Amino acid sequence: MKAEIIAVGTELLLGQVVNTNATFLSEELASLGIEVYYHTVVGDNPTRLEELLGEAEKRSELVVLCGGLGPTDDDLTKDVVAKHVQHNLVQNQQALEKLKQFFTFSKRKMTENNLRQTLIIEGGTVIQNPTGLAAGTLITERDTSYLLLPGPPNELKPMFHQNARPLLEMMVPQQEQLMSKVLRFYGIGESQLVTDLKELMDAQTNPTIAPYAKPNEVTLRLTAKVSGKEKGEAMLSAVEAQIMEKVGAYFYGYGDENSLAKVTVEQLKEKRKTITAAESLTAGLFQSTLGDIPGVSEVFVGGFVTYSKEMKEQLLKIPHDLLDKNGVVSEACAIAMAEQARKLTGADYGVSFTGVAGPDELENQPAGTVWIGIAEKDKPTFAELHHFTRDRKYIRHSAVMKGLDLIRRSVKGKK
Ligand code: ATP
Ligand code: MG
Repeated sequence: MKAEIIAVGTELLLGQVVNTNATFLSEELASLGIEVYYHTVVGDNPTRLEELLGEAEKRSELVVLCGGLGPTDDDLTKDVVAKHVQHNLVQNQQALEKLKQFFTFSKRKMTENNLRQTLIIEGGTVIQNPTGLAAGTLITERDTSYLLLPGPPNELKPMFHQNARPLLEMMVPQQEQLMSKVLRFYGIGESQLVTDLKELMDAQTNPTIAPYAKPNEVTLRLTAKVSGKEKGEAMLSAVEAQIMEKVGAYFYGYGDENSLAKVTVEQLKEKRKTITAAESLTAGLFQSTLGDIPGVSEVFVGGFVTYSKEMKEQLLKIPHDLLDKNGVVSEACAIAMAEQARKLTGADYGVSFTGVAGPDELENQPAGTVWIGIAEKDKPTFAELHHFTRDRKYIRHSAVMKGLDLIRRSVKGKK
């Protein structure tokens, strides 16, 4: 099946928004065995969109459109596609109910134009929107299918996963199916990972091994082309075992959604342990990262942001002399911060961050110098010295990731 993706929105043409939907959709379609041949972006302009649909119809069997399903007049994707396939727009009852409930619940007055969001193209299949109000449609006309999705990625992604993907799976012939598995690594760079796995990757054609580097972590996507789920799973497991033999020490979890923070929180939950933090250069970033994980309240009790020396003394009750003698960018300070945070809150684990975010140096130490302390109940507290690179933002992020990994390893029972 040949496909193309059309992103609709003037903000994309102006460079105000990056077309991340195209990346997401391309990856998803590829994993379904659907080949994407074109990406286009068109502004909120009916004439140009209609022109583009004319082209798309000639060359593609599936046209995925994103954006322009909203309530305002410039949201015209539905109208233009409906006209193109010569169908009407009709109200979808389920979407209408949801819209009404939303306005009742939020105690806001519903303006008339909101109803536009609940229209779908007549004769098509509705794609319900679990996280928003605009409904999508999948409609086939003259051998081309059109899939209409909204622009906001937080709506488009769940709609695609939950409601559109199953429909597409039925449309593509299923003799050979693509199955994939994502392995996540921390503490090894992409270049090192690829070097360690070079022989394996060179020899490997099915499943394929594709690395993807994110800030401070690397993922590997293993993709097998098979007929039969069981066979696919066996093929993926076999390659996974070979990968683990080489770089298993850096592996921490599976899947696109399981961040290092999430895995760390899950591990704390599993062992019924609680955590606190005392943060200097990260200024709350570690605790905020924990806060992003749903259900973290089971393990995170609260903590400290002690940026100045005075706050380290006042809030964490660290002796003035200790800080004077060792400085704040020191092993002694990191240990005291982690220990005091743990003692004051009664948590099982205390993690601390103190160092130089940069760009200027501090206490004659260069930017990127960071001490991370780990205090654990009934265990000796320790601190590690790290030298992170790049800019201030990256240094702080690197420190948080390292702190998460140290906690994760401590909880797991190995350093
Ligand atoms: P809404 O109901 O919010 O109006 P919509 O379907 O009309 O949804 P648009 O108006 O096209 O969507 O876009 C809304 C927002 O979604 C944009 O401001 C932008 O932040 C985001 N967005 C739109 N298209 C894309 C895209 N291709 N990639 C990433 N983000 C996008
Ligand atoms: Mg809009």
